[in-house]
Amino acid sequence: MNWIEKYIDIFQCPYCKGELYLDKDKNKLVCKKCKRVYDIIEGIPILLRY
Ligand SMILES: [Zn+2]
Repeated sequence: MNWIEKYIDIFQCPYCKGELYLDKDKNKLVCKKCKRVYDIIEGIPILLRY
């Protein structure tokens, strides 16, 4: 388990404040609510509005 999985609860979607989950195959965070996808770059989730 990597640190992102351990601390997944502290992350939230910057658009809708929804919960996120880790898509391990793509190595991205995905919002459960609005389905937006966030990159993880060098182990750091990039939770920015674009
Ligand atoms: Zn969202």
